[in-house]
Amino acid sequence: MTAAHPPSPPARAPLMALDDALVRLLAQAAPLSDTETAATFEADGRVLATDLVSELQVPPQDNSSMDGYAVRRADVSEAGVVLPVSQRIAAGHAAEPLRAGTCARIFTGAPMPEGADAVVMQEDTREVGGDLHAVHIDAVPAPGQWVRRGGEDVTRGAVVLPRGQRLSPASLGLAASLGLARLPVVRRPRVALFSTGDELVMPGDVTPADMKPGAIYNSNRFFLRTLLQRLGCEVSDLGIVPDRRDLTLAALKTAADHHDLILTSGGVSVGEEDHIKPSVQQLGTLDLWQIAMKPGKPFAYGTVRRDAGAGADADIACHFMGLPGNPVSSFVTFLLLVRPFLLALQGAGVPERRPVKLPAHFDLPRADRRREFLRVRRNAAGGLDLFPNQSSGVLTSAVWGDGLVDNPAGSTIAQGDLVSYISFADLLA
Ligand code: AMP
Ligand code: MG
Repeated sequence: MTAAHPPSPPARAPLMALDDALVRLLAQAAPLSDTETAATFEADGRVLATDLVSELQVPPQDNSSMDGYAVRRADVSEAGVVLPVSQRIAAGHAAEPLRAGTCARIFTGAPMPEGADAVVMQEDTREVGGDLHAVHIDAVPAPGQWVRRGGEDVTRGAVVLPRGQRLSPASLGLAASLGLARLPVVRRPRVALFSTGDELVMPGDVTPADMKPGAIYNSNRFFLRTLLQRLGCEVSDLGIVPDRRDLTLAALKTAADHHDLILTSGGVSVGEEDHIKPSVQQLGTLDLWQIAMKPGKPFAYGTVRRDAGAGADADIACHFMGLPGNPVSSFVTFLLLVRPFLLALQGAGVPERRPVKLPAHFDLPRADRRREFLRVRRNAAGGLDLFPNQSSGVLTSAVWGDGLVDNPAGSTIAQGDLVSYISFADLLA
Protein backbone atom coordinates (compact mmCIF):
# COMPACT_ATOMS: atom_id res chain seq x y z
CA MET A 1 0.00 0.00 0.00
CA THR A 2 1.35 3.39 -0.84
CA ALA A 3 1.26 6.04 1.77
CA ALA A 4 -2.03 7.87 1.61
CA HIS A 5 -1.65 11.48 0.66
CA PRO A 6 -3.90 13.75 2.57
CA PRO A 7 -6.59 15.01 0.20
CA SER A 8 -5.58 18.35 -1.21
CA PRO A 9 -7.71 21.18 0.17
CA PRO A 10 -10.48 22.30 -2.18
CA ALA A 11 -9.46 25.25 -4.31
CA ARG A 12 -10.54 28.48 -2.68
CA ALA A 13 -13.75 29.57 -4.35
CA PRO A 14 -13.37 33.03 -5.87
CA LEU A 15 -15.03 35.69 -3.77
CA MET A 16 -18.07 37.49 -5.11
CA ALA A 17 -18.07 41.30 -5.11
CA LEU A 18 -20.62 42.80 -2.72
CA ASP A 19 -22.19 44.89 -5.49
CA ASP A 20 -22.62 41.76 -7.64
CA ALA A 21 -24.23 39.93 -4.75
CA LEU A 22 -26.65 42.82 -4.30
CA VAL A 23 -27.53 42.88 -8.01
CA ARG A 24 -28.19 39.14 -7.91
CA LEU A 25 -30.36 39.44 -4.82
CA LEU A 26 -32.37 42.35 -6.19
CA ALA A 27 -32.98 40.41 -9.39
CA GLN A 28 -34.85 37.86 -7.24
CA ALA A 29 -36.92 40.45 -5.38
CA ALA A 30 -40.13 40.46 -7.41
CA PRO A 31 -42.27 43.12 -5.68
CA LEU A 32 -45.25 41.89 -3.65
CA SER A 33 -48.45 42.52 -5.56
CA ASP A 34 -50.91 42.56 -2.63
CA THR A 35 -51.93 45.94 -1.32
CA GLU A 36 -54.03 47.08 1.60
CA THR A 37 -55.02 50.35 3.22
CA ALA A 38 -53.45 51.52 6.43
CA ALA A 39 -54.53 54.33 8.73
CA THR A 40 -52.30 57.32 8.04
CA PHE A 41 -51.44 57.33 11.75
CA GLU A 42 -50.12 53.75 11.42
CA ALA A 43 -48.36 54.03 8.07
CA ASP A 44 -44.88 55.17 9.12
CA GLY A 45 -42.31 53.15 7.18
CA ARG A 46 -44.88 51.53 4.87
CA VAL A 47 -44.53 51.76 1.09
CA LEU A 48 -47.18 53.51 -1.03
CA ALA A 49 -48.94 51.15 -3.44
CA THR A 50 -50.32 53.90 -5.71
CA ASP A 51 -49.55 57.52 -6.53
CA LEU A 52 -51.26 59.98 -4.20
CA VAL A 53 -52.96 62.63 -6.31
CA SER A 54 -54.27 65.73 -4.60
CA GLU A 55 -57.95 66.60 -4.98
CA LEU A 56 -57.35 70.10 -3.67
CA GLN A 57 -54.67 72.74 -3.57
CA VAL A 58 -52.66 73.33 -0.42
CA PRO A 59 -52.95 75.83 1.12
CA PRO A 60 -56.59 75.90 0.02
CA GLN A 61 -56.54 79.72 -0.37
CA ASP A 62 -54.21 82.71 -0.10
CA ASN A 63 -53.56 83.44 3.57
CA SER A 64 -51.47 85.66 5.75
CA SER A 65 -48.11 84.50 7.06
CA MET A 66 -47.97 87.28 9.67
CA ASP A 67 -50.06 89.01 12.27
CA GLY A 68 -50.71 92.48 10.83
CA TYR A 69 -52.93 94.30 8.36
CA ALA A 70 -54.06 93.22 4.89
CA VAL A 71 -54.05 96.13 2.44
CA ARG A 72 -54.51 97.06 -1.16
CA ARG A 73 -51.07 98.31 -2.18
CA ALA A 74 -52.67 101.09 -4.22
CA ASP A 75 -53.88 102.57 -0.89
CA VAL A 76 -50.34 102.73 0.57
CA SER A 77 -48.53 105.16 -1.69
CA GLU A 78 -46.15 106.22 1.10
CA ALA A 79 -45.17 105.28 4.61
CA GLY A 80 -47.33 106.77 7.35
CA VAL A 81 -50.72 106.79 5.60
CA VAL A 82 -53.69 106.18 7.87
CA LEU A 83 -56.22 103.50 6.92
CA PRO A 84 -59.43 102.68 8.76
CA VAL A 85 -59.73 99.05 9.89
CA SER A 86 -62.84 97.66 8.19
CA GLN A 87 -62.80 94.04 9.39
CA ARG A 88 -60.96 91.58 11.62
CA ILE A 89 -60.02 88.17 10.18
CA ALA A 90 -58.80 85.38 12.46
CA ALA A 91 -57.48 81.99 11.28
CA GLY A 92 -60.33 79.64 10.46
CA HIS A 93 -62.77 82.46 9.67
CA ALA A 94 -64.03 83.71 6.33
CA ALA A 95 -63.11 87.16 5.02
CA GLU A 96 -65.29 89.81 3.37
CA PRO A 97 -63.89 91.53 0.27
CA LEU A 98 -61.63 94.40 1.38
CA ARG A 99 -63.23 97.81 0.94
CA ALA A 100 -60.99 100.19 -1.00
CA GLY A 101 -59.23 102.75 1.21
CA THR A 102 -59.39 100.49 4.27
CA CYS A 103 -57.31 97.70 5.74
CA ALA A 104 -58.20 94.46 7.55
CA ARG A 105 -56.75 93.32 10.86
CA ILE A 106 -55.42 89.86 10.00
CA PHE A 107 -53.69 87.00 11.83
CA THR A 108 -51.32 84.26 10.72
CA GLY A 109 -53.12 81.59 8.70
CA ALA A 110 -56.25 83.71 8.16
CA PRO A 111 -57.57 83.89 4.58
CA MET A 112 -56.69 87.00 2.60
CA PRO A 113 -59.71 89.18 1.84
CA GLU A 114 -60.53 89.57 -1.84
CA GLY A 115 -58.88 92.69 -3.23
CA ALA A 116 -56.01 92.76 -0.73
CA ASP A 117 -52.61 92.12 -2.25
CA ALA A 118 -50.17 92.39 0.65
CA VAL A 119 -49.88 92.20 4.42
CA VAL A 120 -48.08 94.75 6.56
CA MET A 121 -46.74 93.16 9.72
CA GLN A 122 -48.06 94.71 12.90
CA GLU A 123 -44.57 95.84 13.93
CA ASP A 124 -44.71 98.22 10.94
CA THR A 125 -47.98 99.83 12.07
CA ARG A 126 -49.17 102.15 14.84
CA GLU A 127 -52.68 102.52 16.19
CA VAL A 128 -54.17 105.95 15.72
CA GLY A 129 -55.00 107.56 19.03
CA GLY A 130 -54.94 104.27 20.92
CA ASP A 131 -58.10 102.95 19.29
CA LEU A 132 -58.36 99.94 17.07
CA HIS A 133 -60.35 101.57 14.29
CA ALA A 134 -57.50 103.05 12.25
CA VAL A 135 -53.76 102.47 11.85
CA HIS A 136 -50.72 104.21 10.48
CA ILE A 137 -49.09 102.01 7.87
CA ASP A 138 -45.41 102.79 8.35
CA ALA A 139 -43.92 100.67 5.54
CA VAL A 140 -44.84 100.44 1.87
CA PRO A 141 -45.38 96.72 1.23
CA ALA A 142 -43.97 94.82 -1.72
CA PRO A 143 -46.52 92.99 -3.89
CA GLY A 144 -47.64 89.79 -2.17
CA GLN A 145 -45.67 90.57 0.98
CA TRP A 146 -46.40 88.12 3.83
CA VAL A 147 -48.99 86.31 1.71
CA ARG A 148 -48.84 82.52 1.35
CA ARG A 149 -50.30 81.70 -2.04
CA GLY A 150 -53.07 79.15 -2.36
CA GLY A 151 -51.51 76.05 -3.95
CA GLU A 152 -47.92 77.09 -3.24
CA ASP A 153 -47.36 73.75 -1.43
CA VAL A 154 -49.52 71.44 -3.55
CA THR A 155 -51.44 72.09 -6.75
CA ARG A 156 -54.71 70.30 -7.45
CA GLY A 157 -54.20 67.13 -9.50
CA ALA A 158 -50.49 66.88 -8.70
CA VAL A 159 -48.86 63.57 -7.80
CA VAL A 160 -47.83 64.50 -4.30
CA LEU A 161 -46.28 61.21 -3.24
CA PRO A 162 -45.40 58.60 -5.84
CA ARG A 163 -46.04 54.89 -5.67
CA GLY A 164 -43.03 53.16 -4.14
CA GLN A 165 -42.36 56.02 -1.73
CA ARG A 166 -41.54 54.87 1.76
CA LEU A 167 -43.63 56.92 4.15
CA SER A 168 -41.80 59.08 6.67
CA PRO A 169 -43.26 61.23 9.44
CA ALA A 170 -43.13 64.26 7.11
CA SER A 171 -44.84 62.42 4.26
CA LEU A 172 -47.61 61.26 6.61
CA GLY A 173 -48.19 64.93 7.47
CA LEU A 174 -48.25 65.84 3.78
CA ALA A 175 -50.75 63.03 3.04
CA ALA A 176 -52.92 64.29 5.88
CA SER A 177 -52.82 67.82 4.41
CA LEU A 178 -54.60 66.32 1.37
CA GLY A 179 -57.37 64.99 3.58
CA LEU A 180 -56.24 61.35 3.55
CA ALA A 181 -56.98 59.41 6.73
CA ARG A 182 -56.03 56.07 5.13
CA LEU A 183 -53.34 55.25 2.62
CA PRO A 184 -52.90 52.49 0.03
CA VAL A 185 -49.78 50.53 0.97
CA VAL A 186 -48.03 47.36 -0.09
CA ARG A 187 -48.72 44.54 2.33
CA ARG A 188 -46.05 43.82 4.88
CA PRO A 189 -43.48 41.21 3.88
CA ARG A 190 -43.85 38.13 6.07
CA VAL A 191 -40.52 37.00 7.40
CA ALA A 192 -39.75 33.88 9.43
CA LEU A 193 -36.66 34.36 11.58
CA PHE A 194 -34.65 31.70 13.27
CA SER A 195 -31.26 31.20 14.82
CA THR A 196 -29.10 28.12 14.64
CA GLY A 197 -26.31 26.98 16.90
CA ASP A 198 -26.34 24.59 19.83
CA GLU A 199 -24.28 27.07 21.84
CA LEU A 200 -27.12 29.59 21.91
CA VAL A 201 -29.29 30.22 24.94
CA MET A 202 -31.90 32.88 25.49
CA PRO A 203 -31.55 35.72 27.94
CA GLY A 204 -34.20 35.13 30.55
CA ASP A 205 -34.03 31.34 30.18
CA VAL A 206 -30.59 31.00 31.71
CA THR A 207 -29.04 33.45 34.18
CA PRO A 208 -25.45 34.57 33.60
CA ALA A 209 -24.46 32.59 36.72
CA ASP A 210 -25.96 29.39 35.31
CA MET A 211 -24.35 29.55 31.85
CA LYS A 212 -22.79 26.23 30.89
CA PRO A 213 -19.27 26.29 29.44
CA GLY A 214 -19.45 27.11 25.74
CA ALA A 215 -22.89 28.65 25.92
CA ILE A 216 -23.51 32.20 24.68
CA TYR A 217 -26.59 34.32 24.60
CA ASN A 218 -28.47 34.69 21.35
CA SER A 219 -27.88 38.34 20.53
CA ASN A 220 -28.56 38.24 16.78
CA ARG A 221 -32.20 37.38 17.33
CA PHE A 222 -32.75 40.70 19.08
CA PHE A 223 -31.31 43.04 16.50
CA LEU A 224 -32.52 41.05 13.50
CA ARG A 225 -36.11 41.03 14.71
CA THR A 226 -35.97 44.75 15.43
CA LEU A 227 -34.38 45.57 12.09
CA LEU A 228 -37.07 43.55 10.29
CA GLN A 229 -39.85 45.29 12.17
CA ARG A 230 -38.38 48.69 11.36
CA LEU A 231 -38.56 47.73 7.69
CA GLY A 232 -42.28 47.12 7.99
CA CYS A 233 -42.05 43.31 8.08
CA GLU A 234 -44.41 41.01 9.92
CA VAL A 235 -41.99 38.75 11.78
CA SER A 236 -42.63 35.16 12.86
CA ASP A 237 -39.86 34.54 15.34
CA LEU A 238 -39.22 30.81 15.43
CA GLY A 239 -36.49 31.19 18.03
CA ILE A 240 -33.60 28.76 18.09
CA VAL A 241 -34.16 25.75 15.86
CA PRO A 242 -32.34 22.79 17.41
CA ASP A 243 -29.58 21.15 15.46
CA ARG A 244 -31.65 18.23 14.13
CA ARG A 245 -32.48 17.43 10.55
CA ASP A 246 -36.15 16.55 11.08
CA LEU A 247 -36.84 19.70 13.10
CA THR A 248 -34.96 21.90 10.66
CA LEU A 249 -36.89 20.45 7.71
CA ALA A 250 -40.18 20.88 9.53
CA ALA A 251 -39.39 24.48 10.46
CA LEU A 252 -38.40 25.35 6.89
CA LYS A 253 -41.46 23.67 5.37
CA THR A 254 -44.02 25.38 7.58
CA ALA A 255 -42.25 28.71 7.30
CA ALA A 256 -42.10 28.52 3.49
CA ASP A 257 -45.87 28.10 3.17
CA HIS A 258 -46.68 31.27 5.03
CA HIS A 259 -43.78 33.62 4.49
CA ASP A 260 -42.02 35.58 1.79
CA LEU A 261 -38.59 35.18 3.34
CA ILE A 262 -36.94 32.80 5.77
CA LEU A 263 -34.00 34.52 7.46
CA THR A 264 -31.56 32.57 9.56
CA SER A 265 -28.35 33.42 11.33
CA GLY A 266 -25.43 31.08 11.88
CA GLY A 267 -24.30 27.94 10.16
CA VAL A 268 -23.39 29.26 6.73
CA SER A 269 -19.61 29.20 7.17
CA VAL A 270 -17.63 26.91 4.90
CA GLY A 271 -17.39 23.36 6.14
CA GLU A 272 -19.69 23.78 9.08
CA GLU A 273 -21.63 20.71 10.11
CA ASP A 274 -25.16 21.86 10.41
CA HIS A 275 -28.58 21.07 9.10
CA ILE A 276 -29.60 24.29 7.46
CA LYS A 277 -27.65 23.84 4.26
CA PRO A 278 -28.68 20.25 3.38
CA SER A 279 -32.26 20.93 4.49
CA VAL A 280 -32.66 23.99 2.28
CA GLN A 281 -31.06 22.06 -0.58
CA GLN A 282 -33.51 19.21 -0.07
CA LEU A 283 -36.52 21.57 -0.11
CA GLY A 284 -35.37 23.96 -2.78
CA THR A 285 -32.16 25.59 -3.90
CA LEU A 286 -29.21 27.08 -2.08
CA ASP A 287 -26.24 29.13 -3.20
CA LEU A 288 -23.50 29.68 -0.70
CA TRP A 289 -21.77 32.89 -1.53
CA GLN A 290 -18.36 33.93 -0.34
CA ILE A 291 -18.69 37.66 -0.51
CA ALA A 292 -15.57 39.79 -0.69
CA MET A 293 -16.49 41.81 2.37
CA LYS A 294 -15.31 42.02 5.94
CA PRO A 295 -17.07 41.40 8.21
CA GLY A 296 -19.63 39.09 6.67
CA LYS A 297 -17.98 36.83 4.11
CA PRO A 298 -20.35 33.83 4.23
CA PHE A 299 -23.89 34.53 3.02
CA ALA A 300 -26.46 32.15 1.62
CA TYR A 301 -29.34 32.85 -0.74
CA GLY A 302 -31.80 30.21 -1.81
CA THR A 303 -35.44 29.30 -2.17
CA VAL A 304 -37.69 26.87 -0.34
CA ARG A 305 -40.58 25.35 -2.31
CA ARG A 306 -44.09 25.83 -1.05
CA ASP A 307 -46.49 22.94 -0.75
CA ALA A 308 -48.80 22.91 -3.75
CA GLY A 309 -52.14 24.36 -2.71
CA ALA A 310 -50.70 26.29 0.17
CA GLY A 311 -52.16 29.49 -1.20
CA ALA A 312 -52.23 31.88 -4.10
CA ASP A 313 -48.46 32.09 -4.21
CA ALA A 314 -47.87 28.33 -4.11
CA ASP A 315 -46.00 28.46 -7.38
CA ILE A 316 -43.58 31.10 -6.12
CA ALA A 317 -40.94 29.69 -3.83
CA CYS A 318 -40.17 31.34 -0.51
CA HIS A 319 -36.89 33.27 -0.40
CA PHE A 320 -34.22 32.02 1.95
CA MET A 321 -31.29 34.02 3.31
CA GLY A 322 -28.69 32.74 5.69
CA LEU A 323 -26.60 35.30 7.53
CA PRO A 324 -23.31 34.57 9.23
CA GLY A 325 -23.50 33.92 12.96
CA ASN A 326 -20.93 36.41 14.13
CA PRO A 327 -23.01 39.30 15.43
CA VAL A 328 -21.25 42.13 13.58
CA SER A 329 -21.24 40.10 10.36
CA SER A 330 -24.93 39.42 10.77
CA PHE A 331 -25.65 43.09 11.47
CA VAL A 332 -23.62 44.43 8.54
CA THR A 333 -24.84 41.88 5.98
CA PHE A 334 -28.39 42.63 7.05
CA LEU A 335 -27.90 46.35 6.44
CA LEU A 336 -26.08 45.99 3.14
CA LEU A 337 -27.94 43.04 1.57
CA VAL A 338 -31.14 42.01 3.35
CA ARG A 339 -32.43 45.51 3.85
CA PRO A 340 -32.28 46.57 0.17
CA PHE A 341 -33.88 43.24 -0.72
CA LEU A 342 -36.80 43.80 1.65
CA LEU A 343 -37.30 47.34 0.37
CA ALA A 344 -37.32 46.06 -3.22
CA LEU A 345 -39.83 43.37 -2.21
CA GLN A 346 -42.13 46.18 -1.08
CA GLY A 347 -41.64 48.02 -4.36
CA ALA A 348 -39.64 50.81 -2.74
CA GLY A 349 -36.66 52.28 -4.50
CA VAL A 350 -33.46 50.84 -3.14
CA PRO A 351 -31.83 53.69 -1.27
CA GLU A 352 -28.58 54.83 -2.77
CA ARG A 353 -25.68 54.55 -0.44
CA ARG A 354 -24.23 58.03 -0.31
CA PRO A 355 -20.96 57.91 1.56
CA VAL A 356 -19.43 61.19 2.64
CA LYS A 357 -15.69 61.79 2.54
CA LEU A 358 -14.24 62.42 5.98
CA PRO A 359 -10.66 62.41 7.25
CA ALA A 360 -9.49 59.33 9.11
CA HIS A 361 -8.07 60.14 12.52
CA PHE A 362 -6.52 56.70 12.70
CA ASP A 363 -4.14 54.41 10.85
CA LEU A 364 -5.03 51.11 9.24
CA PRO A 365 -1.58 49.84 8.28
CA ARG A 366 -2.67 46.38 7.13
CA ALA A 367 -4.77 46.11 3.99
CA ASP A 368 -7.32 43.33 3.64
CA ARG A 369 -7.99 41.50 0.40
CA ARG A 370 -11.68 42.06 1.03
CA ARG A 371 -13.64 45.31 1.00
CA GLU A 372 -13.85 46.23 4.64
CA PHE A 373 -16.60 47.96 6.62
CA LEU A 374 -14.92 49.47 9.65
CA ARG A 375 -16.88 50.56 12.69
CA VAL A 376 -16.02 54.20 13.32
CA ARG A 377 -17.35 57.25 15.08
CA ARG A 378 -17.30 60.92 14.12
CA ASN A 379 -15.34 63.03 16.54
CA ALA A 380 -15.66 66.68 17.55
CA ALA A 381 -12.78 67.62 15.24
CA GLY A 382 -14.75 66.49 12.17
CA GLY A 383 -12.77 63.30 11.67
CA LEU A 384 -13.35 59.62 12.27
CA ASP A 385 -12.10 57.50 15.14
CA LEU A 386 -11.74 53.76 14.71
CA PHE A 387 -13.06 51.27 17.24
CA PRO A 388 -9.90 49.46 18.37
CA ASN A 389 -11.28 45.93 18.09
CA GLN A 390 -12.72 45.27 14.63
CA SER A 391 -13.42 41.57 15.25
CA SER A 392 -16.70 40.40 13.76
CA GLY A 393 -17.70 39.01 17.14
CA VAL A 394 -17.40 42.33 18.98
CA LEU A 395 -20.86 43.84 18.92
CA THR A 396 -19.66 46.70 21.12
CA SER A 397 -18.03 48.14 17.98
CA ALA A 398 -21.45 48.60 16.35
CA VAL A 399 -22.84 50.32 19.44
CA TRP A 400 -19.80 52.55 20.02
CA GLY A 401 -19.65 53.43 16.33
CA ASP A 402 -22.08 55.70 14.53
CA GLY A 403 -21.27 54.38 11.09
CA LEU A 404 -19.03 52.42 8.77
CA VAL A 405 -16.01 53.28 6.70
CA ASP A 406 -16.31 51.58 3.33
CA ASN A 407 -12.65 50.74 2.68
CA PRO A 408 -11.81 49.26 -0.74
CA ALA A 409 -10.04 45.90 -0.93
CA GLY A 410 -6.27 46.15 -0.62
CA SER A 411 -6.28 49.67 0.82
CA THR A 412 -4.39 50.88 3.84
CA ILE A 413 -5.43 54.06 5.62
CA ALA A 414 -3.16 56.70 7.10
CA GLN A 415 -4.08 59.55 9.44
CA GLY A 416 -5.68 62.36 7.45
CA ASP A 417 -6.70 60.25 4.45
CA LEU A 418 -10.21 60.98 3.20
CA VAL A 419 -12.31 57.85 3.54
CA SER A 420 -15.92 56.96 2.64
CA TYR A 421 -18.20 57.10 5.65
CA ILE A 422 -21.79 55.81 5.78
CA SER A 423 -23.73 56.63 8.92
CA PHE A 424 -25.82 54.03 10.69
CA ALA A 425 -28.57 56.66 10.71
CA ASP A 426 -28.62 56.42 6.89
CA LEU A 427 -28.37 52.66 6.90
CA LEU A 428 -31.17 52.28 9.43
CA ALA A 429 -33.45 55.00 8.09
P1 AMP B 1 -21.47 30.41 12.66
O1 AMP B 1 -21.75 31.38 11.59
O2 AMP B 1 -22.64 29.56 13.03
O3 AMP B 1 -20.24 29.62 12.37
O4 AMP B 1 -21.17 31.25 13.96
C1 AMP B 1 -20.08 32.12 14.03
C2 AMP B 1 -19.95 32.69 15.41
O5 AMP B 1 -21.08 33.43 15.74
C3 AMP B 1 -19.84 31.64 16.51
O6 AMP B 1 -18.90 32.11 17.46
C4 AMP B 1 -21.22 31.59 17.09
O7 AMP B 1 -21.21 31.17 18.42
C5 AMP B 1 -21.67 33.00 16.94
N1 AMP B 1 -23.13 33.08 16.82
C6 AMP B 1 -23.89 32.34 15.97
N2 AMP B 1 -25.19 32.65 16.12
C7 AMP B 1 -25.25 33.61 17.07
C8 AMP B 1 -26.32 34.34 17.66
N3 AMP B 1 -27.60 34.15 17.27
N4 AMP B 1 -26.03 35.26 18.61
C9 AMP B 1 -24.74 35.45 18.99
N5 AMP B 1 -23.70 34.82 18.46
C10 AMP B 1 -23.93 33.89 17.50
MG1 MG C 1 -23.03 27.88 14.17
